[in-house]
Amino acid sequence: MIEKKNIIRNKEKPVQKFRFYVQSAMAILCMWIGVEFFFFVKYLQSEGSAVFINRPPGVEGFLPISSMMSFYIFIKTGVIHHAHPAGMFIFAAILLISLVFGKAFCSWLCPVGFLSELIGDFGERIWKKLFKRKLILPKYIDIPLRSLKYLLLGFFIYAIFFLMTDAAIITFLDSPYNLVADLKMFNFFAELSGFALTALTVLFVLSIFIRNFWCRYLCPYGALLGLFSFLSPNKIVRNKVSCIDCGLCTKACPSLIKVDKASVVLSDECSSCLNCVDVCPVADTLNVKNIIVKKTVPKKAIAVIIVVLFMLITGIGMITGNWQNDIPKEHYIIHYERMNSYGHPTGTKEVNEFNKEVMDKNK
Ligand code: SF4
Ligand code: SF4
Repeated sequence: MIEKKNIIRNKEKPVQKFRFYVQSAMAILCMWIGVEFFFFVKYLQSEGSAVFINRPPGVEGFLPISSMMSFYIFIKTGVIHHAHPAGMFIFAAILLISLVFGKAFCSWLCPVGFLSELIGDFGERIWKKLFKRKLILPKYIDIPLRSLKYLLLGFFIYAIFFLMTDAAIITFLDSPYNLVADLKMFNFFAELSGFALTALTVLFVLSIFIRNFWCRYLCPYGALLGLFSFLSPNKIVRNKVSCIDCGLCTKACPSLIKVDKASVVLSDECSSCLNCVDVCPVADTLNVKNIIVKKTVPKKAIAVIIVVLFMLITGIGMITGNWQNDIPKEHYIIHYERMNSYGHPTGTKEVNEFNKEVMDKNK
């Protein structure tokens, strides 16, 4: 450890403001998509008599399971499924970002992550005023709870990739249930059941007191990105020689990672928010480094690359004409009327029957 008087101060500008702007822009974009989709649903409800507003393809970003299936079929066959093509491109962009900068999507672009962060900041202020410290769950509660999101992810992976054949996945993607998945999601939130409302309220309250409750413990998407993040070559690296052990990085970490004890942060919980790097008082001590070429990646470059990667992949979808799906509005009106009768296979027995039905059809 070097003496305090010999410290070269870290004069690099923090990137948290920029991160906040990116998060806000994404949240506004999602709200805009929500408004457009609302008017599209109104059009369907009026059976075509209200003003027609185009269905915003960005809504498919909220259909991760369908998008994951489309992505899998694309990788295997090279064919982009026609139902939710934008969802597939958004999914691919998120995966690519996590391969480059770990779970950066969660802290830079995800609107749920942003909301969770705002609620957490608010809760932390109250908690600190009342008890003069943060509320941190003990390890024996935190660790089992963190495994929940992996159990949920495991369930989806098993149900899709182990129980369903490729033909069944394609039939599912073609199914009316999948075509109206976005409309079903809309109705779920528009007509919240008592149970769903209670669950959302509980999640909200828990998120006030336990930072990132949903993201840390329950989000299967975050679990998937956490696993992908291990493949990312860009990691937070601490220079043990110049570190003065002030502990500011650990204090600043919203994911409760002991940054001041690590040489390299290897955690599925690190969301590349760069809070730790921003607060480190010593120059060139805590950085994002590419561990393959052993070079520091500047913070500003990270911020720009995350945004550019997202725009690039979704832009490819738009430029190649694979953004809007090909379902005519007249079909949507019919689907909307009938969609309550559309179900999907849920249990092993039903999935087996579904697979058999698909095989019989293809004979
Ligand atoms: S280790 Fe640093 S970059 Fe990772 S979550 Fe914690 S503060 Fe953010
Ligand atoms: S913020 Fe962390 S890495 Fe930087 S000097 Fe303090 S303990 Fe070391």
